[in-house]
Amino acid sequence: MTTLLPAPRVRTARPADVDAQGLAAALRQRIHGGVRFDDGTRALYATDASNYRQVPIGVVVPRTLDDVVATVATCREFGAPLLSRGGGTSLAGECCNVAVVMDFSKHLNAIESIDGQHRRAVVQPGLVLDQLNAATRHHGGLVFGPKPATHSHCTIGGMIGNNSCGSTAQWSGTTAANVERLEILTYDGERMWVGETSDEEYRRILAAGGRRAEIYRAVRDLRDQYAGQIRAFPALPRRISGYNLPALLPEHGMNLAQALVGTESTCVTVLRAQLRLLPEPPKHVLVLMAFPDIAAAADAVPTINRYAPTALEGLDDKLIRYEGEEHMRPEALKLLPEPTNHTGRGAAWLMVDVGADTVEEAKDRVHRMLDELGHDEGKVFDDPEHQAQLWAVREGGLGATARTPGGPDTWPGWEDSAVPPERLGDYLRDFQRLLHRHGYDAASLYGHFGDGCLHTSIPFDLVTAGGVADFRTFVERAADLVSHHGGSYSGEHGDGQARGELLTRMYGPDVVQAFEEFKAIFDPDSRMNPGKVVHANPLDGQLRLGAGYAPAEPATYFRYTEDSGSFARAALRCAGVGACRRPEPDQGVMCPSYQVTGDEEHSTRGRARLLFEMVRGETITGGWRERSVADALDLCLACKGCKRDCPMHVDMATYKAEFLAHHHAGRIRPRSHYSLGWLPAAARLAALAPDLVNAVTHAPVLGAAVKRLGGIDPRRDLPRFAGAGFQRWMRNRTPGGTGERGTVLLWPDTFTTYLSPGIAASAVGALEAVGFRVALPRGPVCCGLTWISTGQLGVARRVLRRTIDALAPWLRAGVPVVGLEPSCTAVFRGDALELLGHDQDALRLRKQTRTLAELLVADHDIALPELRGDHGGRPHAISQTHCHHHAVLGHDADAELQRRVGLDVEQLASGCCGLAGDFGMTPDHRDVSLAVGEQVLLPAVRAAAPGTIILADGFSCRTQIEEAGTGRHALHLAEVVNAALRGVPAGERPERALSVRPEARAVRS
Ligand SMILES: Cc1cc2nc3c(=O)[nH]c(=O)nc-3n(C[C@H](O)[C@H](O)[C@H](O)COP(=O)(O)OP(=O)(O)OC[C@H]3O[C@@H](n4cnc5c(N)ncnc54)[C@H](O)[C@@H]3O)c2cc1C
Ligand code: SF4
Ligand code: SF4
Repeated sequence: MTTLLPAPRVRTARPADVDAQGLAAALRQRIHGGVRFDDGTRALYATDASNYRQVPIGVVVPRTLDDVVATVATCREFGAPLLSRGGGTSLAGECCNVAVVMDFSKHLNAIESIDGQHRRAVVQPGLVLDQLNAATRHHGGLVFGPKPATHSHCTIGGMIGNNSCGSTAQWSGTTAANVERLEILTYDGERMWVGETSDEEYRRILAAGGRRAEIYRAVRDLRDQYAGQIRAFPALPRRISGYNLPALLPEHGMNLAQALVGTESTCVTVLRAQLRLLPEPPKHVLVLMAFPDIAAAADAVPTINRYAPTALEGLDDKLIRYEGEEHMRPEALKLLPEPTNHTGRGAAWLMVDVGADTVEEAKDRVHRMLDELGHDEGKVFDDPEHQAQLWAVREGGLGATARTPGGPDTWPGWEDSAVPPERLGDYLRDFQRLLHRHGYDAASLYGHFGDGCLHTSIPFDLVTAGGVADFRTFVERAADLVSHHGGSYSGEHGDGQARGELLTRMYGPDVVQAFEEFKAIFDPDSRMNPGKVVHANPLDGQLRLGAGYAPAEPATYFRYTEDSGSFARAALRCAGVGACRRPEPDQGVMCPSYQVTGDEEHSTRGRARLLFEMVRGETITGGWRERSVADALDLCLACKGCKRDCPMHVDMATYKAEFLAHHHAGRIRPRSHYSLGWLPAAARLAALAPDLVNAVTHAPVLGAAVKRLGGIDPRRDLPRFAGAGFQRWMRNRTPGGTGERGTVLLWPDTFTTYLSPGIAASAVGALEAVGFRVALPRGPVCCGLTWISTGQLGVARRVLRRTIDALAPWLRAGVPVVGLEPSCTAVFRGDALELLGHDQDALRLRKQTRTLAELLVADHDIALPELRGDHGGRPHAISQTHCHHHAVLGHDADAELQRRVGLDVEQLASGCCGLAGDFGMTPDHRDVSLAVGEQVLLPAVRAAAPGTIILADGFSCRTQIEEAGTGRHALHLAEVVNAALRGVPAGERPERALSVRPEARAVRS
């Protein structure tokens, strides 16, 4: 089964004139941060979110600003090109290069000061925008205004580099307009604060002399020389292409900081930024209006702009259709007004956000606007929850349109043009004709219409010579079209390599000469991000794919149905959006390991990129045996958060299992793979003499030896086996209840049956009480989960095969299979079919597997008695959703069941618990495991009142809660439902009142 990937075809060259080894050694001596010149790290940083790929010389992760200064000095000594990086979400290739990459995001992310009175903040460049705004909002609702769709993970340095905008820029202006001063560092070592420069200050700088004076004099001379051409730049809200030279004009205060915003690391390194903060309008009203087509929607923009919206966004039917097909935000999609044409095909919507001091004031503006437009169909939303849902639809645009089920892959490349808003309708009509001429009709059209900015991902063929040639022709024609409409090739993403070479078409040679001279003032030897913006590499050069793209196509265990059966295609899923780099688990689960380490290789994107590089086989060449890939995957918790939360549904848990299967093939595995991977078999053996086994595993010396032997962290408690009491209890008892609702098969997963049988007993009690007959399958059955997560896929497949054969009679009779442990239930709903291939019984199992909540609420709509709380009130609960439950099963039915049994529930935004099956049990993973739990879950449990019910259906989550010294025991929802049905009150100590544990004794009695 194991296939070693082919030997490298080419090894990407480092620039011949840079002594990379010497440079790395010098850097290691001089800086405290990480110096990583290994091939794995170079591969990891070889691309951003663009179509380009350039393998860097090495990567530096500076710890301090002094580290940055020392890195720049050392690069200068070795003549090495230099590139700064934040979130790496750039779409035009400006964030990859054959250079030394400095990653600011891990350590240089401090907020140095917030001055609410003067409405300003000083920050380091690696700070994430949302984190800044979370802090500044405490100062009278102030925010840094521009808000790219990547706001949860893009950095201030990156926003400065690109002159980012986003939807709110219509209200706040661009990043440049909101930067007051920058502390910059030139390649030759000049470090200074720059900003607005009065004549007096200019004279003072010149009098002081030195390199600083030289820079200022040259900048002012350049400005004076080109003032006429600069003043003739197209007047546009979104003129992001080229350098921001108008900021140098006297009427703009000769603001050198604002002129350097948008230079994409080609001129200077930004060390600190002083930002202008704005008071956010406290109230918002959002209006959605339907139009027959996207150009008609754009035609309404000038009228709407007269009502000063905070944001005005356009979206077409394709974006909505693609999100629908991908089951993204179904509730939000229902909020859209009906399309105003017959078929809905070609329809479009405008989203208008109006901010004001009061909702009434905003609504008044909205109604006057609708009256003027004569638009009766506008749907007005004034509640923040619906507004947030609708914004998520718009912000999910690029992710939703990049890869659609059954549709072509689409790419950036002409994703960011902008024209004067009053020309947008005409531009769109012309642009659609151009798309059609090239056969690119599948492209969805959306964007910041109020500012005339259009986004689209286009189905370019970037893997054949003809396709790449067509890509170039299309982009050149589109550029001419934008010039014709008086627009800018970039409306917010920057030029990088995608648009750099086209700037002469937009500005003419003289202005481009001025850009080149501007760069040369700061970087005369072109060592700063060379080949981007000016003297740019060709737009069809250094492509990530390209006509030579020929990845290995190894044989695999999983089927990769949604990737045409190709592991290489699965490894290409990641579009680089970077949502997996969100620093907090506030919007889902993905990606817990990145949340605690802050390292690129511990993000889903980093891992996906390494797998992409592995099948490519150029820079990292070890194939399945590759150490760097194994290291990056090692801290993947296999939580499946990415499968759900990543817009491209990268399923890293599956890729990790696949990788481990090949990586360890024919070799001795880590000890924990034997001890924890074979837990189901061990549990069955232990069930023969559980007391003896528990005595041995918990004896001081013997227990420690068992843990050492099993590769388990000595500080972890070994589980106590409950024996086979549950099955015996089931066999020997008379079934309860009427059985009027028919029979269900309770899935006897290892964790519930052998470690928490009280939960299984509660489930039986609850199911019988509402009218089901409960059966158990006979014989040793198992879902294979522990073998899957340790990459023992051959065994997993055999175990699953045997299990499905054993279940076949039940499945063929249409009996529902009720799962209690979310990860095992998720195997039946997901992995089983992917591992076994097409199989009718596996298909039946996928369809018939239900969670307790799905069975009671979604399938049978059963009304339930409410649980009585302390003093008769509604019991309060906090609920930890297991990550596989979140990713594969969905939690809606559970939330409804919790409501029906009368719980007042707070769903924790806690992401993964950190234990994640075998992950947190091993010594190497303990710190990360606990750090993940300590983000939200464990502090929330510790802070909960004694009478609060702690709900956690996952065995891992309950174990983590118990072992982390919270003093609490979590309950399974089955226990709560059973108690409610039996009229047992929650009491002051719910875990004592509602649980039928300690399990072993409870079910044996
Ligand atoms: C799905 C998606 C949606 C997007 N939506 C928007 C949007 O709505 N609006 C928008 O404006 N952009 C958008 N972008 C583009 C991008 O996310 C933004 O421009 C973002 O602000 C870049 O931030 P970053 O931290 O990822 O920067 P990076 O990509 O890391 O860097 C951006 C540039 O800044 C430079 N840079 C970084 N740090 C420094 C420093 N310390 N000194 C000097 N230069 C530095 C880099 O070299 C690079 O040239 C989107 C991208 C994607 C993938
Ligand atoms: S893994 Fe998913 S979320 Fe992360 S960058 Fe790639 S596409 Fe985006
Ligand atoms: S499975 Fe979890 S830990 Fe692994 S990459 Fe996905 S989100 Fe991150």
